[in-house]
Amino acid sequence: MGMSSEEIKKMASEYIMNTYGRYDLALVRGKGALVYDPEGKEYLDFVGGLAVTSLGHSHPQVARAVADQALKLVHVSNLFYTEPQVKLARLLVENSLADKVFFCNSGAEANEAAIKLARKYSWERYGPGRFKILTMENSFHGRTMTTLSATAQAKIHHGFEPLVQGFEYLPFNDLAALEKAVNEEVCAIMIEPIQGEGGVNEAGEDYLAGVSELCALRDVLLIFDEVQVGLGRTGTFFAYQQFKATPDIVTLAKALANGLPMGACLAREEAARAFGPGSHATTFGGTPLVSAAALTSLETILSPGFLDQVVRVGRYFKDQLKELAAGGDYIKEVRGRGLILGLELTFPGAGVVKSLMNRGFLINCTMERVLRFLPPLTVTEAEIDRLMPPLSAVLAEEAAAAKGNR
Ligand SMILES: *Cc1c(COP(=O)(O)O)cnc(C)c1O
Repeated sequence: MGMSSEEIKKMASEYIMNTYGRYDLALVRGKGALVYDPEGKEYLDFVGGLAVTSLGHSHPQVARAVADQALKLVHVSNLFYTEPQVKLARLLVENSLADKVFFCNSGAEANEAAIKLARKYSWERYGPGRFKILTMENSFHGRTMTTLSATAQAKIHHGFEPLVQGFEYLPFNDLAALEKAVNEEVCAIMIEPIQGEGGVNEAGEDYLAGVSELCALRDVLLIFDEVQVGLGRTGTFFAYQQFKATPDIVTLAKALANGLPMGACLAREEAARAFGPGSHATTFGGTPLVSAAALTSLETILSPGFLDQVVRVGRYFKDQLKELAAGGDYIKEVRGRGLILGLELTFPGAGVVKSLMNRGFLINCTMERVLRFLPPLTVTEAEIDRLMPPLSAVLAEEAAAAKGNR
């Protein structure tokens, strides 16, 4: 017999550092878009491990790849070559505008690598003094000291000052502000093509095209943080493919190995050349185990018809959300592409999340008022149809309650 929900929660409060505002729910297993608590209650999962389990839970081929590789070779360090790692790097390069890949273990680490690479590139071409990286308001790039300094959100900085120097924050989707800010000290611009944690905010097409042009003109490296929106989430393998933008560096993590920890920093040759032996490293980067999981995951995402299905189902879901928005004045906006969708409410969304959880649906709320939907990319229209009536009912109830409390 496994532990009960109550036992797990009690033990967590006793032994685990209190860094997460967790939902009142323990989970023990999952299959596809479904997860189960210790008492056997079923939940339909529209959180997807925060855009991580893109192929759903317990994906048979990924599980098989992990099991087979675990019985063969888990880790040897990057002192040696391994087959899964080189095959994964080739797959990423052949399906992107990048030429080289650095593997690591998380989104923050992928961004650390990108930041170091941009600084090194600039140092070698122009010498010291050209080190600044421009990032956007409401961005999210990670929780290490450097990536939280790159993140332009006061609530994430609070209490950790002094921050790492060399970052300047600019309004998102404001090309004129960016043009003004690019000076002799700037070596890179870092952008999420769709801000995930920041509330599912999409970059404008003209904006990103302009940013890309500006970067090319001034030899400023363009870094796309696709940790959340890359690898099929938006309906294309990379989000940048939907824009007239040619990033020099692209960072990945979340969905890369469908739940095993892995990050990657992809770069075009010119930039990648700035790193040499000893420039950057990490013990666990690209182990045969996680590489095997990633290889199988990405082959699945790239298999014929898979991304078309993401586009089709994503459009269906967005249409449903728009219809819902048309029926209630408590929804401000519906945003997103593919299967990263956001519903901005006129009131805080925590109660909606909680009520839906009680009814067997997991969703997430970010920036206090934005319901964020990140289901597995394999989610079906029938599963979306199951969510919509309770979502609609709960929104109406919570909106009324919010009005009453005012
Ligand atoms: C989640 C996220 C990160 C941080 O990734 P970790 O794996 O938690 O370090 C960075 N950038 C974006 C856009 C993210 O969504």
